[in-house]
Amino acid sequence: MAQPLTLEILDQLIGFDTTSCNSNLQLMAYVQGYLENLGVASQLIHDTKEKKANLFATIGSENKAGVMLSGHTDTVPVTGQRWTRQPYQLTEQDGFYYGRGTTDMKGFIAVVLAAVPQMIKQPLHTPIHLAFSYDEEIGCVGVRRLIHTMQNHPLQPAVCIIGEPTSMQVVTAHKGKLAAKVTVTGKECHSGMAPQGINAVNYAARLIVWLEQLAQNKANSGPFEAGYDIPYSTVHTGTVKGGTALNIVPNHCEFLFEIRNIAQENPRDLLVQFEAYAEELVNQMRLTDADCDISIEITAEYPGLSTAEDAEVVAFVKKLAQSTANANINFGTEGGLFSNVLGIPTVVCGPGSMDQGHKPDEFIHISQLQQCEAFMARLIDELSA
Ligand SMILES: [Zn+2]
Repeated sequence: MAQPLTLEILDQLIGFDTTSCNSNLQLMAYVQGYLENLGVASQLIHDTKEKKANLFATIGSENKAGVMLSGHTDTVPVTGQRWTRQPYQLTEQDGFYYGRGTTDMKGFIAVVLAAVPQMIKQPLHTPIHLAFSYDEEIGCVGVRRLIHTMQNHPLQPAVCIIGEPTSMQVVTAHKGKLAAKVTVTGKECHSGMAPQGINAVNYAARLIVWLEQLAQNKANSGPFEAGYDIPYSTVHTGTVKGGTALNIVPNHCEFLFEIRNIAQENPRDLLVQFEAYAEELVNQMRLTDADCDISIEITAEYPGLSTAEDAEVVAFVKKLAQSTANANINFGTEGGLFSNVLGIPTVVCGPGSMDQGHKPDEFIHISQLQQCEAFMARLIDELSA
């Protein structure tokens, strides 16, 4: 059995529909109230519209660099998914706890919060910081405001543990991501006079094929980084929209693509090459019509995580996780930002598996919550002995 308090908190957290498009303020009010009852002060760092917030709190002395436990409070939508259970109500069957966010990543947050009374009781000689964010699922957007605030703190945490689901394995690396929207503006005309128009779909197709060739080039020639299922940077086009009727030469086409880069590759360099090709095409298009254009807008971007295998943080967290294996993950986290922007040694280690994340009937197994509870108990012992 996991602690009743962990399950009680998880039940509360799942009850808040904190899909990224919604406010997370009710959830944060609950967390703040819970901490306040334990005598722990916390700070909310709001978005510009005051609709969402990050939460930062320190348990123990603020004059010493501590261990930061980081998690995001938002979840992906359930829209279009076939759930056989209530997504925003925690339900249990045979040790499996179902609900949106159980594994990604309210299970971790519940375990952390349930451990706060013990953190206070022991007490800690080295502090534990809680950093809970919003808008992670749409490209690590919300945490940037927290990081901005933390830049003014006199002291940065010595260690950051991101509790994204890794089945409690210690993960030292993940790829970075750059996502962009491309809009092609052509010139419409009757399709019977197609050569007089500029076909936006055709130009978009050429750009997409260029990206596909770039992807192929990465697969063939690298650079490569061991440890990943796909050990090189990937390039992928995900959606295309263009044209209105077959008998009109389309004047508009837009598509979304992303680059997921390994640490030694800068996606901005690849973007510059793509922009140069787009400019070539624009020059061609403008021979026919001066208003033709291709615009490229970055919609999301976060750096990869690449913590050295022999870094102190890795040995420290492996000891707590009682794990010796090295693991990489195929999804991004806020860890790259904490590591790159604030220079905090960071690893990812949390309960549950991303095999269950983002899917209908998302669940976390009780054994994962228990493993994370044991991890937390060892962490508290380590920081209070
Ligand atoms: Zn997540």
